[in-house]
Amino acid sequence: MESLEDIEAEIRSCKKCNLWKTKTNYVPGEGNPKAEVVFVGEAPGREEDRQGRPFVGNAGKILTEMIEKLGLRREDVFIGNILKCRPPNNRDPLPEEIEACSPYLIRQLDVIKPSIIVCLGRHSASFLFNFFGIEFRGISKERGRVKEVERWGKKVRLIAIYHPAAILYRPQLREMFEEDFAVIAGLLREKKRSPTLLDFFD
Ligand code: SF4
Repeated sequence: MESLEDIEAEIRSCKKCNLWKTKTNYVPGEGNPKAEVVFVGEAPGREEDRQGRPFVGNAGKILTEMIEKLGLRREDVFIGNILKCRPPNNRDPLPEEIEACSPYLIRQLDVIKPSIIVCLGRHSASFLFNFFGIEFRGISKERGRVKEVERWGKKVRLIAIYHPAAILYRPQLREMFEEDFAVIAGLLREKKRSPTLLDFFD
C-alpha cells in the first residue's frame, strides 16, 4: 500500500507534461492522510507555485477561513489540485495536462479514502464528476448539490462549489459559496465527526 509521501516523491521528479519546465515548485498537495474531507482545485497559482503549497494566496485565505468556520483546521483536511504544476499565467489546464497529471490525484484519494470530496470550480468538478461517472452540467447548475458515489467500500459524497478565486473577482458569488459550505457542514454533522460544528451557519 503506497503512502502520500511515496506519491509526493514521484510528483517531485515528474516530467509527464510540459508544465515542469515552467513551474517554480511542484505543488503535490498537503494535509491529513486520513482526512474525512478533501478539497480539490484545478492547479497551483502564482503564490502556490512560489511556495510549493496549495491554496496559500488570496483565494487560499478564503478557503482557509471557510474551513475554519467548519470547525476544522487545514491540517484536518487534505487540500490539493488536479495539476501539480502551475500553468503559465494561470491559463486553463489543457486536456493532455489533466490526463497526464490526474492519476496522481486519484492515487492520493485512494490513499486518503475521504467521505466527502469538494470540487473547487468547474475544472475540478468536470474532471471528478466524469471520473465518478456523473454527468456535469456546469458549475452554476451543479454547485451545492450533493452526489453520492460508491468507492473504497463506502458511500462517498461529492459536491461542487465555486472556486474561491471566483469569490475574489465576483463578490456577489460569496453568498452562494457560503450556502454551499453550509451544505458541507451538514454533511459533516451527519457523519458526526466534528462535534463542535457550526454555530456560524446556524
Ligand atoms: S503538471 Fe503533473 S504531469 Fe505535468 S509535469 Fe507537473 S506533476 Fe507532472
